[in-house]
Amino acid sequence: MIPGPVEVSPAVLAAAAGPPPGHTSPRLIEAFGRSLELLREAVQADASSQPFLLAGSGTLAMEIAAANLLEPGEGALVVSTGYFSDRMAEILRRYGAQVVQVAAPVGAAPAAEEVRDALARQGPFKALFATHVDTSTGVRVDPEPLCRVAREAGVLSVFDGVCATAGERFFLEDWGADVYFTASQKALGLPPGLALLVASQRALTTRTLRQAPPPPLFLDWDSWLPIHRAYEERRPSYFATPATSLVMALEVGLDELLADGIDARVERHARAASGMRAAWKALGLRQVPRSEAETGNTLSVLLYPDGVDAALLPKVAARGVVIAGGLHPAIRTTSFRVGHMGYAVTRPDYLRRTVEAVAEALRELGVSVDREGAVAALEGVVRG
Ligand code: PMP
Repeated sequence: MIPGPVEVSPAVLAAAAGPPPGHTSPRLIEAFGRSLELLREAVQADASSQPFLLAGSGTLAMEIAAANLLEPGEGALVVSTGYFSDRMAEILRRYGAQVVQVAAPVGAAPAAEEVRDALARQGPFKALFATHVDTSTGVRVDPEPLCRVAREAGVLSVFDGVCATAGERFFLEDWGADVYFTASQKALGLPPGLALLVASQRALTTRTLRQAPPPPLFLDWDSWLPIHRAYEERRPSYFATPATSLVMALEVGLDELLADGIDARVERHARAASGMRAAWKALGLRQVPRSEAETGNTLSVLLYPDGVDAALLPKVAARGVVIAGGLHPAIRTTSFRVGHMGYAVTRPDYLRRTVEAVAEALRELGVSVDREGAVAALEGVVRG
């Protein structure tokens, strides 16, 4: 129950465990092509958008967005809500961008008006970057108003959905967003190893109009576009070897999560999150995000109660549940994190065992908690 990599479903596990197909095998071509189509559905993108699917982790997807959209010297505004927004800023700086960060105190997201002011006063900017859910703070931004202020200012909008895709709503087409990138190992419910990205026509045109030397070969959309188009047309193609076993798993995973539509999957995450929050409250635990609206569905970032520290984690693990410590430097030693995304949200028994394990571990550390009350609070929201 760490915030990724997560448990995967039996069907995903079986698909990943099959004999690895070659990159031109009909099975692989079909899985690749269909995965691209399903990815559009997961972020509600129209047919003119281009999904990309590469071997790599979420950080590779961040690099790809920076490398293709920014030329040295151009401005990038980063909406900072935690450790991963800071990483985005660092990546952008390494590509030569002039980076301005608009931050809020730990646990909060900057208001869209503040971002609009910064876009107007501190530019010129080429693009705005925001982390949909930052895994170090649990803070969720509201992408829609950010897309709006970006469009009004004539800048591209780019979202890090690594800890959000399939767990939070995103409407790439309706909101006029330009890039949504993610990775396989979180709410998508797959093993780690795939960097995924959906780019709008406007984003693709930005790469076409680039004046500076091209991005590194592996990161360049121009290297990958013919291959992705070929796979979508169900033709064999090659630029660099895809992670074929993971692509086989991706098709199965996306089929599972879209079986009842993306809305149903997001709703399932929202319900799991709400149940877990009710349980934490019943245990007297405080969360890092300062409001419900700023709290992501995919994980809980919680403060240790008085007298408790990271000694909690092995005591939870001894009960068969693995949770994670703090990550953001300001709350690294005072917070811990529990993922509730992907396959886990289809397993009320996982959620219950997690609440029980945390409650029992707290008790062992001398905190008086109501384990049964917490389980009842969870089950009042999430039923088996
Ligand atoms: N962005 C967010 C919001 C993340 O949670 C992570 C990983 N935890 C990353 C980016 C980087 O992804 P990866 O570790 O797969 O490189």
